[in-house]
Parts: sequence; C-alpha cells; structure tokens
Amino acid sequence: MTAKYDFHCHSTASDGSLSPAELIQRAAQQQITLIALTDHDTISGLVLAQQAALENNLTLINGIELSVTWHKHAIHIVGLNIQPNSDILMTGIAQLQHIRHQRVSKIAEKLEKNHIVGVYQAMAILGEKTLITRSHFARFLVSEGYVQNEQQAFDHYLGQGKCAYVATEWATLAEVMDWIHQAGGVAVLAHPLRYHFSATLMRRLLTEFKNLGGVGIEVVSGRYQIDDIRRCAEYAQKFNLAASVGSDFHTPANPWIELGRLAALPTELTPIWTYF
Ligand code: AMP
Ligand code: MN
Ligand code: MN
Ligand code: MN
Repeated sequence: MTAKYDFHCHSTASDGSLSPAELIQRAAQQQITLIALTDHDTISGLVLAQQAALENNLTLINGIELSVTWHKHAIHIVGLNIQPNSDILMTGIAQLQHIRHQRVSKIAEKLEKNHIVGVYQAMAILGEKTLITRSHFARFLVSEGYVQNEQQAFDHYLGQGKCAYVATEWATLAEVMDWIHQAGGVAVLAHPLRYHFSATLMRRLLTEFKNLGGVGIEVVSGRYQIDDIRRCAEYAQKFNLAASVGSDFHTPANPWIELGRLAALPTELTPIWTYF
C-alpha cells in the first residue's frame, strides 16, 4: 500500500466543518500518514491537531493558507512546515485577521441592505470561536433558507461582483512569502487553476513567485482531472517548482472531495515532501 498524503485541508479554526481532532481522526481512517492542516489565515487549530496526530499515529505538518492580493486578484499561498510560534508570521496573520474582521462587518452590512436578517448577530457568535470567511456567510444563507446551497450563496450574494461582495486588499505576495520563510516554511501556490488566469498572467505570477523563493505548486488538487494535472505539472517543470498534493477538504458534506483521495503525482516531478 502506497503512502497517502494531503497538504491542504481546513478545520473549524477557519471554514472547515470538522474540529482539528475530528479532521485528524478522519485522516487516520483514510490511511493518511502525512497531513498538513492549512486553515485560512490562522494557525489556531494546529495545537489540537498535533495532539490528535500523536494519538492517531500520523504525522502533522504545520501549515496555513494565506490570503494575498496580487494585481487586484485574490490568490492563496499555502505555507507548509512553518514554525507556528514565529513572531513575524504571527504579526502577519494578525494583520490578515484584522482585515477579515473589518470585512465581516462590511459583508454583513451589504447583506442586511439586501433584506437578509440577523447576519451581524450570527457572525458575532461564530466569530468568537472561528475566523470568519465567506463560507460562513454562505452557510448562514443556506441555513436561513435564502438559498439552497453554498454555491447559490456565492452566485447570488457573495461572489465577485455580486451584491454583498467586498473587494479586499489582503497581504502582498512579497509579504506572505517573507512571513512563511521567516517561520522556516516552504511556500506553495494553492489551486493554480482556480484563478482562471490567462497563460500570460500565470507566467507572470509564477515568475514572481519563484523569484520570491516560492518552492511548490499544487499539481494535484481536490477535483482536478487528468488534463488539469498535466497543465499544472507543466508549470511545475517549466518553473522548476516542487509538486504538492492537497484535497482542499472542507467538509464530509461534500462527497466530491475527501481527505487524501487524490490522484498520484506525475513521477517526473519532485514531491513537495522532500522539502520538509
Ligand atoms: P474568503 O477567503 O473569506 O473570501 O473565503 C473563501 C472561501 O470561500 C474559499 O476558501 C472557499 O472555501 C469558499 N468559496 C469561494 N468561492 C466559492 C464558490 N464559488 N463556491 C463555493 N465556495 C466558495
Ligand atoms: Mn475555504
Ligand atoms: Mn484557497
Ligand atoms: Mn483551502
């Protein structure tokens, strides 16, 4: 039996539906031996996840998924094998969390203007135990019956250009790369095809990423088909980047994406775990 890895997933510390311990237990059930927890802009799930990893006999890589604004586009950089107690990383995360908190109020305000009731209060309660993302708003809209599923919530309210969309200036690419490096980690470009960039823009991004010390790119991601994997593998080779695999698992309620259920990496690529 080959080893199973997963270097991109979420817990209740951000927008996942399983607690860090439940997530690790599920990973163990899926026979994963090496996993990274990569919550959005927070490391608050890592301590409990490490404890659960010890109990479940698997290895947890400390990770994070950082929000970046690059030439007006929101992109995500995964930091793997970070030291969570790094002062510089913690200061950076605090900045992103501050931006998130401000955005929560702005999104709530827009939703209330669009006749959605009780958002502020719901988010205030949620915000006490988690870092709020648009997924939380989406779930609220589903649970209150305004839409039938999370996708509809993005399509009708939260997605770019929709009535409750708030354009956000996250950190710069150079900043997050520095935070990750100062924390001893490696930077990986998350789900490269999700940005729908043209080939030119992708080349520009990867050139900049590489120049800033970027190490890896997700070649195998949650729902990637064989053609997608091939495209990302070409980027990895062209820019001399290591290849990562990550499901971007958020919840067992989504049957399409399971922890560790990922295609094998193309054998010609350097796997990211050789950098841990
Ligand atoms: P945020 O970082 O707060 O903008 O929230 C981003 C999160 O929302 C992502 O990590 C996804 O989990 C989720 N998300 C973004 N776009 C969509 C979409 N179109 N459909 C469903 N979930 C989405
Ligand atoms: Mn998410
Ligand atoms: Mn992401
Ligand atoms: Mn993610």
